[in-house]
Amino acid sequence: MGALLCVRCTRGVVADADGSWICERHGPVEGLADAMEFGPEALATLLYPDGAVPAWVPWPLPPDWSVTGVRRTGEGAAAMHAVAVSCTGPGMLGGVAELVVVAEEPGVGLGARYAGRTQPDPGPALTTAAPDTKVFAAGHPTPLWSVPGGSDRAVYVGEALGRWLWLVVWPATEFMVVHDHLSLVDLRDPTLAYELPTGELSGPILE
Ligand SMILES: [Zn+2]
Repeated sequence: MGALLCVRCTRGVVADADGSWICERHGPVEGLADAMEFGPEALATLLYPDGAVPAWVPWPLPPDWSVTGVRRTGEGAAAMHAVAVSCTGPGMLGGVAELVVVAEEPGVGLGARYAGRTQPDPGPALTTAAPDTKVFAAGHPTPLWSVPGGSDRAVYVGEALGRWLWLVVWPATEFMVVHDHLSLVDLRDPTLAYELPTGELSGPILE
């Protein structure tokens, strides 16, 4: 595993005396590990049944989609405060569409960076508006709000299992990848035995 990066800007970080990570621009931050292709090795870094955050993946995947990478903060169970899973496949309008699903604790900022937003959390205005759609996360209806982000992507955010849930779609015109019947499963669930199709690392997860 390479050196950890700032979760908010991907600059290199340095270790503080107490073991926390410092970005010269953002101060104390979570350290972000390199993206990994999805497979047994990546799963071994994600699946701590008792800890940390969910690793959400759409299941069933849209037709001909595959899982194209994972990324997390820190090393070991205690430092995992954010997990991103990317999926890639044919868009509804033709061309390739990409989806990155992030689960994270408040204040981390991985989802916000994929979203192209500067503040790490969605902000208090979120839940005062009606949600724009919902998905099912571990079987629970989960409202999502469309929020502004980078101009080339569509961004949805909500909360599931007590963590922020971000779904970011490229290009923005493929926003319908996130729809009312989308179901997310938590890869930590030991009863799951899905044969997930996998593909090469996607561009977005490497950003
Ligand atoms: Zn930074």
